[in-house]
Amino acid sequence: MKKYDLIIIGGGPAGTPVAMEYAKLNPEKKVLLVDKNGELGGECLFEGCIPSKIMKEISQTSKSWEEIKNFKKEILQKRSKAAKENLPKNVELLKANATFFASHAIEIDNEIYEFEKCVIGVGSKPNIPNYAGNGVDKIWTNVDFFKNMQLPKTLSIIGTGAIAIEFTQILADLGVKINLFSRSNTILKKIDNDAKQLVLENLKKHPNINLIFEANIKEINFENQFEIIYTQNNQTKTIYCDKVLSAIGRSANISNLNLEKAEIKYDKHGIITNKHLQTSNPNVYANGDVVSGFPAFAHTAFYGAHIIAQNLFLNHNFFEIDFDKNSWVLFSNPNIATSGISELEANKRGLDIIIDKYNFNIDAKAQITHTDNGFLKFIVEKKSLKVIGVVIVHQEANQIAGEAALIVSNQMKLKDIISTIHPHPTLSESFSNLSKQMMGKWMMQKLKNPIIETLLEMERNI
Ligand SMILES: Cc1cc2nc3c(=O)[nH]c(=O)nc-3n(C[C@H](O)[C@H](O)[C@H](O)COP(=O)(O)OP(=O)(O)OC[C@H]3O[C@@H](n4cnc5c(N)ncnc54)[C@H](O)[C@@H]3O)c2cc1C
Repeated sequence: MKKYDLIIIGGGPAGTPVAMEYAKLNPEKKVLLVDKNGELGGECLFEGCIPSKIMKEISQTSKSWEEIKNFKKEILQKRSKAAKENLPKNVELLKANATFFASHAIEIDNEIYEFEKCVIGVGSKPNIPNYAGNGVDKIWTNVDFFKNMQLPKTLSIIGTGAIAIEFTQILADLGVKINLFSRSNTILKKIDNDAKQLVLENLKKHPNINLIFEANIKEINFENQFEIIYTQNNQTKTIYCDKVLSAIGRSANISNLNLEKAEIKYDKHGIITNKHLQTSNPNVYANGDVVSGFPAFAHTAFYGAHIIAQNLFLNHNFFEIDFDKNSWVLFSNPNIATSGISELEANKRGLDIIIDKYNFNIDAKAQITHTDNGFLKFIVEKKSLKVIGVVIVHQEANQIAGEAALIVSNQMKLKDIISTIHPHPTLSESFSNLSKQMMGKWMMQKLKNPIIETLLEMERNI
């Protein structure tokens, strides 16, 4: 029987950084990192964040599909090689499929590996729709797309979340004719209505995109090409295309882990953890897409990995997760970046907030770069003037999303942003411009109150 201080299952963003950080902090400890593909980077590197953003970058240039394929190969190889080379010496990387054997042990190829602590980071897999028809098992997911790297002439995409929208716009820019199927009459249901409006307009006016909304797919058949039979406005319709790509949500990879043997509880969304990402088995932690209710991003997995590594190092559950300060970017056209609580969520929680926007059409940098379509929006707690949410809609919102993340995560007030000197002309100036705009309105409102009351309130908030 082999024994390790820490065993990590999964070499993606949820697992690899725990191995790196923990092993560096504890050079005397033995760490085993098991990945079924024997590669580091997970879905993010091979079939997710990185290849999709490579395509996005290059779809805006005049590079050929061959050049895109070669560039993708080069970047993926470079990154996975570097990750392996950077593994500390006390980490052993094993290419294998791990399952649990007991509360302190996993099993790999009939061999038992005992651990003091274990971290599960096995990710999630794309859901496959269960329509009728002989074409369903030929439907592509993101995994098939990036494995094949073929550009079909016509592609039907099912889904209206982030993955579906990114694929639709990128591939349409690369010349693919897209049918985008939505069961509802809109897209991106978790995003504020005003923020998704510009993306929706761009989808509608793109010559290669055909939006098929309020459509109920009934059957998908395949014979030389795909045949999609669906109902819309009480009519049955049929469409033909070369390929179909499904992006209708994801499920945690828990079915083959034998979690019961280690007394690890789960629900239909994944492994259940507490705020320290500890499972019902106190020696086992879980991180990333495999965790129930966990925001499915690479950066949230990196964040979770740091919390687990630190708590394991301290041998005490000191740090805990807080996803109210999460940030993410939809790499659509224009980008939508969100930090903290959206307007939709704030209203759902009944929070007392004030909201205001800064339009990029008055912004110097946006005007210079011909990117003046879009806005910056703050969701501010009325009582404290603390910025609890930021939404940025702009072609390059990803470039300034980090500042939004810092503001929200550090619970900054309008006055903190105003007192920051932002360089001119940059898009980041929008943060101080919007703060001044909101503070100005707030002061004008307050000056209508008795002067003593106003002065006391200003002292608190300015
Ligand atoms: C198309 C697409 C675009 C995306 N774009 C972004 C983006 O721009 N930004 C962002 O932050 N996120 C993005 N994501 C999400 C991101 O890829 C995931 O949230 C992230 O990869 C989750 O990391 P993870 O480590 O939990 O899982 P994974 O990355 O899936 O890694 C899990 C690892 O576990 C291994 N494994 C699985 N089962 C076992 C087993 N039994 N034994 C051993 N090893 C096992 C797998 O081989 C894999 O390496 C995107 C996803 C997709 C699909």
